[in-house]
Amino acid sequence: MSKLIDVLKNNWYGGRRWLNNRSRQDVWPSLATIAVVMVAAFQLHHQGRLWWCACGEYFLWAGDTWSRHNSQHLFDPYSLTHILHGMAYYGILALIASRLPRAWRFWLAITIESLWEVIENSSYVIDRYRAVTISLDYMGNSVANSIGDIICCVLGFFLAYQLGFRKSLVFFIIAELILNFWIRDSLILNIIMLIYPIEAIKMWQIGGH
Ligand SMILES: [Zn+2]
Repeated sequence: MSKLIDVLKNNWYGGRRWLNNRSRQDVWPSLATIAVVMVAAFQLHHQGRLWWCACGEYFLWAGDTWSRHNSQHLFDPYSLTHILHGMAYYGILALIASRLPRAWRFWLAITIESLWEVIENSSYVIDRYRAVTISLDYMGNSVANSIGDIICCVLGFFLAYQLGFRKSLVFFIIAELILNFWIRDSLILNIIMLIYPIEAIKMWQIGGH
């Protein structure tokens, strides 16, 4: 474990500094990233997701995770979990793909996130969520919400770079705690409940409603 942390610390900024040293080499990864997000948006709509919340009101933030607006507008409390995605991708890619230029690591992270959104919003996963989690009338995110999630992932990636390993880890833990108190859900709980649903957690989450 301590060896893993050493590798993470050493590789965190590996390669040339990206934000301070923008160059033409970043053009292609940037364009490729925009292309991936656009393809994901059209694929999401193609597989049946609405562009925006069915309510038709264009507010950007939906704070109540139990309302029908949750995961339908651009941002909601779950957006925070997607900032954590971006940070986690940054760490994982610093660990396993440190030789890849950072701009391409960024592209890879956003591609993984876009794929996650497409899979998360497939009929198979939507039905599974409904069956095993608290989301009883879950119909999948709107395309706008998926785009908002990807924007948050971008933010998380940049944030991890800015904060460095140690502060990123602290941010991650605090964000997980805030989410558990705030909406009784978080990135880690989300993964646990999707892979291995635990009845006691489900009861606790319903109890918060
Ligand atoms: Zn709405």
